Amino acid sequence: MPPYAFFKGKFMPLSEARIGIVTHAFNYGTACFEGIRGNWNEEHGQMYIFRPIEHYQRLLDSCKVLQIEIPHTIDELIALTVELVQRCSYREDTYIRPMAYKSSEQVGVRLHNLESSFLLFVVPFGPYLDITKGARCCISSWRRIDENMIPPRAKINGLYVNNALAKTEAFEKGFDEAILLTHDGHVSEGSGENIFVVIDGQLITPPSSDNILIGITRDTVITLAKQELDIETVERSIVPDELYTAEECFLTGTAAHITPVIEIDDRKVGGGAVGEITKKLQVLYFDVILGKNTKYLDWCTPAYKLVKT
Ligand code: PMP
Repeated sequence: MPPYAFFKGKFMPLSEARIGIVTHAFNYGTACFEGIRGNWNEEHGQMYIFRPIEHYQRLLDSCKVLQIEIPHTIDELIALTVELVQRCSYREDTYIRPMAYKSSEQVGVRLHNLESSFLLFVVPFGPYLDITKGARCCISSWRRIDENMIPPRAKINGLYVNNALAKTEAFEKGFDEAILLTHDGHVSEGSGENIFVVIDGQLITPPSSDNILIGITRDTVITLAKQELDIETVERSIVPDELYTAEECFLTGTAAHITPVIEIDDRKVGGGAVGEITKKLQVLYFDVILGKNTKYLDWCTPAYKLVKT
């Protein structure tokens, strides 16, 4: 089965889905996107698409910010996604990439008077960071883009240059991931993840006012911690030295799942190993995303019709 894409209103081989070099989004970053996981459950013979409603709601919100109109409802977008995943028939973890973009082939920086299009593709995608051993992070010298520059709650392609600068700086310094601060020095998030710390047994994560993307994995963790572990999450600003002294720290994201942070700026987090609360959350989370926890099956959309018996 060749990889497929949904492009220009139809399904086609991924190799044929090409944009022209004058495309507005390519020149100016005027696009928004999502990353959705298709989680492969070998035992069920099933690919579970995780929380597509929330992802497509966030995409439509990002579209509003960029004045992009796409001719699909959330239900239609999910149906297209299911069909694409079926056509590709991967039997491994995947990453689904919807994108809404300014598709006019016109030069000129603006949002108005431009056509919009929607595309979708899916690629095999294993672990992004080391979820078993954990990640070594640094505080980036790049600050997280501010609300009045590019709205950070929208997942806008052009904004991701900020994240890419931070990620590569971290990589070149020998770290696995970067943690970005806001302009006023509060902890914001990783280059592609939200961040949590455990202090005095309490879960703490930055509020949306600290320029984070409001992550769907973040919400999943907050929900599971409350409902399954009876731990409330406090949303409040975090200062960098709280990262150094926290008992535990972890990152959350569609690609990164729940990645423990074992070191920040060469200081061990807690004992330098994966923390107890982090471990418990990981166990719960992986059961949920693999469709093994019936209580949260509403979050999992099965893509394949034929379930192995
Ligand atoms: N922050 C940024 C900058 C991201 O790119 C992501 C990944 N989408 C996240 C946070 C986590 O969001 P989610 O859990 O919805 O994937």
